[in-house]
Amino acid sequence: MENTPQQIGRYRIERLLGSGSMGYVYLARDADLDRRVAIKTLRDVHLDEESRRMFLSRFQNEARAAARLHHPNIVQIFDVGDDPQHGPYLVFEYVPGHTLKQQLRKGGPLQKDQLLYVAQQIADALATAHAAGVIHRDLKPENLLITDNGQVKLADFGIARIPNADLTKEGQFLGTPCYAAPETLLKGEYSEKTDLFSLGAVLYEAASGERAFPGVEAIVVAQNVMYKDPIPPSETDRGAAIPVQVDRVIMRALNKNPGARFASARTLVSALREAYAGKSPTIPGRRRRSLPMIFVLLLGAALAAWAVLGYPLEPPSTDTDAGAVTDAGTDADANAVTDVGTVTVTDADTGTETVIPRTPHEREEAAKDELARAREALREGDVAAAQAALDRATEYDPSNPDIEALRAKTQTTKKP
Ligand code: ADP
Ligand code: MG
Repeated sequence: MENTPQQIGRYRIERLLGSGSMGYVYLARDADLDRRVAIKTLRDVHLDEESRRMFLSRFQNEARAAARLHHPNIVQIFDVGDDPQHGPYLVFEYVPGHTLKQQLRKGGPLQKDQLLYVAQQIADALATAHAAGVIHRDLKPENLLITDNGQVKLADFGIARIPNADLTKEGQFLGTPCYAAPETLLKGEYSEKTDLFSLGAVLYEAASGERAFPGVEAIVVAQNVMYKDPIPPSETDRGAAIPVQVDRVIMRALNKNPGARFASARTLVSALREAYAGKSPTIPGRRRRSLPMIFVLLLGAALAAWAVLGYPLEPPSTDTDAGAVTDAGTDADANAVTDVGTVTVTDADTGTETVIPRTPHEREEAAKDELARAREALREGDVAAAQAALDRATEYDPSNPDIEALRAKTQTTKKP
């Protein structure tokens, strides 16, 4: 567990603000300039020499990429240092408030005006970064900080790269597959268009309250990103008010073909604005697709592709073995004894199985997937399956506020 330091460099640490993929973020006071700052350090993990070098490069790269950018919608970097006791650290403008992820979780999908306001600010931030030749590479709700007056600030240029900088050659995928573009997962490519795809995935989630590419483990999510189109946002549980024109804009941003996406983030947001202004309502009587059949077909296709091509999450040049992952908690057999706290990873070559604990983030995501299953089961009138899914959701993440509401629904749904 993390031990909050008291002092890093000249900054007095006040408390832990958050933690991410790479390290901890603390609230601190800069006594010299009499202001609060956010300090990011590396997590105290025991890394081999090479991984440590890679992490340090990411760190320095984040500092350089962020230092090129000055914009009200981008978290400003102030300083970088190396503390003898706590290692390298970055100092940022402190943004009091919450992340978009927290907001969506608490308040549900954003309404039109709020969505457009958030989208416009992200687009402005991306336009500035792209004009400076910086690709964000990890745009997602957790990296969007929102102040109490609704201002959005794009944070965590953690894996942002200046195109053609030496570091791009390392070609490692470090982002979250849920918001990563298919060409990033397949070929390790990053571009303005991959940031646009991520923006599409963020807007999908902000408009509908559901992730565009669900799944718990990275491998399942990556399969969805690479080979599956999400259902249109308006067909999600909470999406009924979303106009079809808005569906089209978001789905275009999520096109598997980078050339078919929008020219820029601002073009995307203009199209979104026009789509909302368009008068024609959603097509009456449109029916939800029969999900299970489509799912079975696509899963078959994905598995066939997987069998033929091998699992292509790593770029072809690296020979790292991604391994096969089996998901203990989402097994189709609800009677199987499952351990929701862990995932079993099987090494494809040796067959060795390793049980690794789920991260809190993975547990939250797993709970959301179970809630989606519960909703689907309720739609089909299968109360028992809905209850089983809700039980699993509770085990993953008892604090998820949607669980109770859905439980109440199972009480009122008649058993067939
Ligand atoms: P990581 O590289 O570890 O993902 P992030 O920069 O995304 O790091 O920060 C992790 C979390 O810390 C964020 O989700 C947010 O809750 C908090 N955080 C990060 N930067 C700031 C900041 N400048 N002001 C306030 N909170 C921040
Ligand atoms: Mg982050």
